[in-house]
Amino acid sequence: MSIVLGGMNLERVRTLIIRGKTISAAHFIAGHPTCGKVHGHNYELVVGFKTKISISDSEAVDFHNLSQMIDKVIFVYDHNNLGDMTCETLAEDILLHLEKRLEQEETSKHSVTVAFVELYETPKFGVRVN
Ligand SMILES: [Zn+2]
Repeated sequence: MSIVLGGMNLERVRTLIIRGKTISAAHFIAGHPTCGKVHGHNYELVVGFKTKISISDSEAVDFHNLSQMIDKVIFVYDHNNLGDMTCETLAEDILLHLEKRLEQEETSKHSVTVAFVELYETPKFGVRVN
């Protein structure tokens, strides 16, 4: 027997898994009033993964695997000078690089897709891509 509510089959409810990580890195933005000199930020990265696996399924998404996948992506940024890398150092540019690298990972191997990526440069300023 299937459970249907509002035309939606609840047996295969999508689950959103959210994982956060910190990236400590240096950057500067030429001519910027506060970020014009080389300095560091503890960027907070938040990644949302979509999965069609419902909580009741026996096959579960391994959070540890997702964590390792993000670690592999952020490794090149963490404790690095972003100005020495090829990417621009605006939060928006860093976010797009991170999103691209996350999508290059074999997320399907872990039964997930990237739903959104957020990057906070400070607790009050962040950027997001869906
Ligand atoms: Zn800055």
